[in-house]
Amino acid sequence: MVTESGPPRSSTLPVPLPAIAAGGAAVDGNKHHEVVVIGGGNAGISLAARLRRYGVRDVAVVEPSGRHLFQPLFSHIGGGTAEASEAVRPQASVMPQGVTWIQDSAVDVKPAASTVALASGSQLTYGHVVVCPGLQLDWDKVPGLAEAMDSPHGSSNYVYELASKTWALLSGLRSGTVVFTMPSGPVKCGGAAQKPMYLACDYWRQQGVLNQIRLVMVVPTPTVYGVPGVDEELNRKIAEYGIELRCNSEVTAVDAGTRTVQVLDSATGRSDSLAYDVLHAVPPQSAPDWLKATDLPAAGDHGGFVEVNAETLRHVRYPNVWSLGDAAGTKNSKAGAALRKQTSALAKNLKAVLNGGTPKAKYNGYSACPFTVSRSTVVFAEFDDQYRPMPTIPKVKVSKERHSTWILERDLFPGIYWNLILKGRA
Ligand SMILES: Cc1cc2nc3c(=O)[nH]c(=O)nc-3n(C[C@H](O)[C@H](O)[C@H](O)COP(=O)(O)OP(=O)(O)OC[C@H]3O[C@@H](n4cnc5c(N)ncnc54)[C@H](O)[C@@H]3O)c2cc1C
Repeated sequence: MVTESGPPRSSTLPVPLPAIAAGGAAVDGNKHHEVVVIGGGNAGISLAARLRRYGVRDVAVVEPSGRHLFQPLFSHIGGGTAEASEAVRPQASVMPQGVTWIQDSAVDVKPAASTVALASGSQLTYGHVVVCPGLQLDWDKVPGLAEAMDSPHGSSNYVYELASKTWALLSGLRSGTVVFTMPSGPVKCGGAAQKPMYLACDYWRQQGVLNQIRLVMVVPTPTVYGVPGVDEELNRKIAEYGIELRCNSEVTAVDAGTRTVQVLDSATGRSDSLAYDVLHAVPPQSAPDWLKATDLPAAGDHGGFVEVNAETLRHVRYPNVWSLGDAAGTKNSKAGAALRKQTSALAKNLKAVLNGGTPKAKYNGYSACPFTVSRSTVVFAEFDDQYRPMPTIPKVKVSKERHSTWILERDLFPGIYWNLILKGRA
C-alpha cells in the first residue's frame, strides 16, 4: 500500500534517532539553533550547505529519512533510461560538513514562540527557521487510486519504489491501452506525468509495436502544458506517437478490479469510463497535513503552503520564518530548477538579516522542465511564474527538441546535482 509520501512509512520514516552533528557526536534533541531547516531534500541540503559556506555557524537540519532521493531521475527509471540505484544515496553522505542532522520529523511549528515540535517529543527553539518539507502525495483524494497502485497494472513515478515497476509494465506491453494521468492542483514537476509516456513510445516504436497500443494522456489544463513554444513541440511529438490528448480532464475514480478510470471533462461536464491495461498516475498533492495546521500558511490557502514574499522568500508575518522549494507558497512551477535560484536568494537574504541588514536578493519566479520526448532528445521548457518563456540563453532555442539538452539533462545533470547543487555551489 502506498502512503501519502510514497513508500511505506516504516521504511522512510524510521524511529527517530539522536541528533548527529555531521562529523561529530550525538547531541541533545531539546536544543536551540541559530538556523533550523525543516526537511533535508533538494531545498534543505542545498540551502544548509550554502549557509555554511556563507559562514553561518549553527545550522541544524531536521530530516527523518536515512536516504536522499534525486527525484528527477525517477522519470528516467520509469522510462527505462536509468537504474534505480542512480537516484539514491545515504542521507549522511549529502549532509554538509558542520551541519547538525536531527533525524526526526517536525510535527508542529509555533512561529510566535519560535519553536519546532518533533515526532520524538523533543522541542527545538530557533533564531530563524526555514520550512522546506516538500509535498505530500494525497492518494486518497481519488477513490481507488491507491488500490490501483498496489495492483499489477498500476504504477506511478512519484514513488521511488514504483518507478522500476513502471518500466516493467511499460516495456512488457505489446498491445492494449495505456492511460497516463495528471491531477489538477499543485504538483511537483508537472511535466513528469508525460515523460515516461514519450520514453515508452520511443521504445515501442523501436520494438515495432507502437501502432498496436492505444495511448491516452489526461491533463487538467486547456493545453498540453501551457508554455507557448513548448506546447507546439509537445503537440508535434503527441501526433508523431499517435497519443490521444484529453485536455481540461481529470481522473475522478479508479476501479482496479475492472481496470477502468472515470475521466471528467470539465469543459463539457461529461464523464466517461476508460478501460486500461496499464495506468500511470500522478496523485494529487498538497503541503504536509501538519504544516497546513500551523499558522504559517495564508488564511484561505487550502494547499497549506508557507506564506512567503515571492521574491525574498521571507515569511509575510513572521520575519524569522523562511521557506523555499515545494512547500513554499510561491506561484512558480514547483521544481528543482526553481530551487537553484531560490536557494541563492534565500541564503543571501538570511545571511544579510543575521548580519543586521535587510533582504535584498530576489527570486525571479524562474522554473524549468525537461521533457524527455524520445530516448535521446529533450524539449527543455524554461518559464516564469506565469508560464511565459524565460530562456537562460535567448539565442539558443532549447525549447526545440534537441539531443544536446538530453546530454545535459540525462548525462551531466545528476553529477551537477550530487556534486555542486547539494554542496551549495550551483
Ligand atoms: C517524478 C518526478 C520527476 C521530477 N523531475 C524533475 C525535473 O526533471 N526537474 C526538476 O527541476 N524537478 C523535478 N522534480 C521536482 C523536484 O524533485 C522537487 O521540486 C524538489 O525535490 C523539491 O525539493 P524540496 O526540498 O522542496 O522537497 P523534497 O526534495 O521532496 O524534500 C523534502 C524533504 O523533507 C523531508 N520531510 C518530509 N516531512 C518532513 C517532516 N515532517 N520533518 C522534516 N522533514 C520532512 C522529506 O523526507 C524530504 O527529504 C521531479 C519530481 C518528481 C517526483
